[in-house]
Amino acid sequence: MSRDSDSEMDAPPYIYECVDCGEREEADQQPVACSECGGEMRNLSRPSEQ
Ligand SMILES: [Zn+2]
Repeated sequence: MSRDSDSEMDAPPYIYECVDCGEREEADQQPVACSECGGEMRNLSRPSEQ
């Protein structure tokens, strides 16, 4: 009888970085735009996307 951690309920937030100003945000889905400058956000958790 092993105890499992209860961390499966919540997926870890992804980290997104603004391509324009470098602002980082944690979110479970891609932000529409950077909260600082309104620029495009890219997901840092994924390998290079081309
Ligand atoms: Zn920005």
